[in-house]
Amino acid sequence: MAGKTARYAWMNGELVAWEDATVHVRTDSFMYGANVFEGIRAYASPDKTQLYVFKSAEHMGRLFNESMKILRIEVPWSEAQTTAGMLELLRANEFHEDVHIRPSAFFGGGEAHTFDPKKIERGFVITAVPRPQNPDTLWGGFHVCVSSWRRIGDEMMPPRVKAGANYLNGRYAFMEARVEGYQSAIILNQNGKVAEGPGACVMMVRKGEVVTPPVTAGILESVTRATLIQLFRDEMGIDVVQRDIDRTELYVSDEVFFCGTGSEVQPIISVDKYSVGTGEVGPIVKRMQEIYFEIARGGNDKYSAWLTPVY
Ligand code: PMP
Repeated sequence: MAGKTARYAWMNGELVAWEDATVHVRTDSFMYGANVFEGIRAYASPDKTQLYVFKSAEHMGRLFNESMKILRIEVPWSEAQTTAGMLELLRANEFHEDVHIRPSAFFGGGEAHTFDPKKIERGFVITAVPRPQNPDTLWGGFHVCVSSWRRIGDEMMPPRVKAGANYLNGRYAFMEARVEGYQSAIILNQNGKVAEGPGACVMMVRKGEVVTPPVTAGILESVTRATLIQLFRDEMGIDVVQRDIDRTELYVSDEVFFCGTGSEVQPIISVDKYSVGTGEVGPIVKRMQEIYFEIARGGNDKYSAWLTPVY
């Protein structure tokens, strides 16, 4: 059982005590991973008086208009209501530190042994918990391997849908990496090209270009990936190239990094024990971290539209 890390959760339209945000073990969500969800971060301002939800509309929009649509899960609450619920939840918990927010639409109780969405209850829950950054890895970089597991694909388990069950694929890769002594993994798609990490997209710097796999490579269409593509162009004058990446390109690249809401902008300093570039965090990813975190904490007015102030 998850420890108590917040006072309240938001469940099915109202705030409830953290302990009361429960589902029965016979729900399809618990049994089969029949849920779709989001990971959203809220960043505290440097003086901790304000909290900014980063790209709230993009995340809630992906949940309602992509993940829920494709899985055909409809809930009685609108995107506007769940967004308001999320802000209400953050205020009720009186958070003044970095938090990670998880809205989730799920199939609950109902008629057993049926996939008929009309016969199964639907629920929507939002939780938020403090999630401080890990300075050791964020500034020091990750050692990763290329997983022997392949990424799920659009024709069987679409990675574009941020479904709970999809994360078993990432879990196999991640656990393999951990058992082998790495910090994380890069997963290849069915064509043997780089897809993404267990919970983040991948970018590479090679021969003067920043490269990332296309959205058709078996990846989640990441909000952070789109954010960085824009920031590379507008803040660093770099047009990110979206093309397939070979495994061996990672071995001879200058920089590799993960990007995602949870991973943020996470440098990778070795792949399969090949040093990436000099084996230290490279200048391009370092500069992008500065740009990204300044914006996320409200320090760049040009991008204030990306932030939703909580207080
Ligand atoms: N890929 C996967 C598999 C993920 O779980 C995540 C994290 N949500 C990402 C990519 C990054 O997506 P985003 O930038 O929207 O958080």
